[in-house]
Amino acid sequence: MRIHVVDHPLVAHKLTTLRDERTDSPTFRRLADELVTLLAYEATRDVRVDRVDLRTPVSATTGVKLSYPRPLVVPILRAGLGMLDGMVRLLPTAEVGFLGMIRDEGTLQPSTYATRMPDDLTGRQAYVLDPMLATGGTLIAATRLLIERGALDVTALCLLAAPEGVEVMRKAFEDSEVQVTVVTAAVDERLNEHGYIVPGLGDAGDRLYGTAG
Ligand code: URA
Repeated sequence: MRIHVVDHPLVAHKLTTLRDERTDSPTFRRLADELVTLLAYEATRDVRVDRVDLRTPVSATTGVKLSYPRPLVVPILRAGLGMLDGMVRLLPTAEVGFLGMIRDEGTLQPSTYATRMPDDLTGRQAYVLDPMLATGGTLIAATRLLIERGALDVTALCLLAAPEGVEVMRKAFEDSEVQVTVVTAAVDERLNEHGYIVPGLGDAGDRLYGTAG
């Protein structure tokens, strides 16, 4: 598994405001959206393209276009939905699938309550949207599902990651023939006893959808 921490002052600036407990939900949503677009720029570095011939008003030339089959973007409900617009702004022709997963706050184990995506992902590049890579259970389950369905590679975009989550992802996919990549704005200090990232930004879903505080 590869991890790419996007080291950029604009990313750090937006993340700082997201972390701030005084940031209200409308601002949080807007900044998360902007941050995802910056992460998406890095996450799509290996997106497949085909060479095309064309004419400019001046001469013949060549360029590239995104390949078929189209990439698949999969937000993990609920909080991943807050990352969707920022992602498809860069990949407007991508297909969007949905995965509903919930973490049991006692056991911290994920369970899947909704799956809406093609059964056959052969040859498709998949981009999973999950704001917080905490214990890693949800992201591992989502990535396994995409690999089982034939995804060519899987790239997860996370606003924040915990070292514990990165480590379990690494272990889970160390022998995987399918390339798994995590792109994040930061790897924080640790998880607390409730499975929250420290210092983190709190519950991403609650902060996005105004259910915090
Ligand atoms: N999920 C969140 O929303 N926040 C955390 O810190 C960990 C998991």
